[in-house]
Amino acid sequence: MALEEYKRKRRFEETPEPPPKVEKKSAHRFVVQKHRATRLHYDFRLELDGVLKSWAVPKGPSLDPADKRLAMQVEDHPVSYFDFEGIIPEGNYGAGTVMVWDLGTWQALSPTPVDGKYLPGTDDEARAMLAKGDLKFRLKGKRLKGDFALVRMRSRRPGSKGTEWLLIKKHDEYAVSGFDIEQYDTSVLTKRSMAEIGGDQGSAEWQSDRPASRGKLKAPWLADALAKLEQKKRSGKIQSKPQRRQGSTEEKKTRKARKFGT
Ligand code: MN
Repeated sequence: MALEEYKRKRRFEETPEPPPKVEKKSAHRFVVQKHRATRLHYDFRLELDGVLKSWAVPKGPSLDPADKRLAMQVEDHPVSYFDFEGIIPEGNYGAGTVMVWDLGTWQALSPTPVDGKYLPGTDDEARAMLAKGDLKFRLKGKRLKGDFALVRMRSRRPGSKGTEWLLIKKHDEYAVSGFDIEQYDTSVLTKRSMAEIGGDQGSAEWQSDRPASRGKLKAPWLADALAKLEQKKRSGKIQSKPQRRQGSTEEKKTRKARKFGT
């Protein structure tokens, strides 16, 4: 039965995530959630047969057809996960901040193109393409638009679970070469940044400690955090405790490193 793995991995008295209910009717919605868990990744979900078929995409989806994004298929999620945004508490599966990065509708495409164009397909075709490991579909989202394919990789490693797919944008009028996912760092639902959703000063501090060579300051919350820091410096509040600040930063880095190791 669907959603058993979803259910097994979670304690619903502790997590704000929705319960494992399979819906009787399916629409054709999709959602991309930005998820700062052990590692930052994006979850790509397509509604089909009363659940959300789900893939974890480490680098996130791209509108550049040259990008082939690794997408690890994960357990089906309940449809009500569609607009889940918030914090999965520490100690729970997937603990961390979740942002609704994009949402919209999707449509299966015919398995083969006609005159170089893919035509709308049926759910039966979608199921068959999924089983075969070559799903073609069209997205109408706020950020993701146009034709895509999810292609299952042939496992070369013995013992591979066969959960590795590639998410690839097809060439069409919505393709954007050099697409940079980090240009879009707010929720399409609430316009909030990850730090605002997470509501933790710690995450803002940790981010602002990154080397300047990472690039321009695109995120408003980061500018905010830096402005506050400057203000504190000017008022002399943190001059007396440079060691402590340093220490807490190191502590966070260690904690982060430990997390990455698990
Ligand atoms: Mn996730």
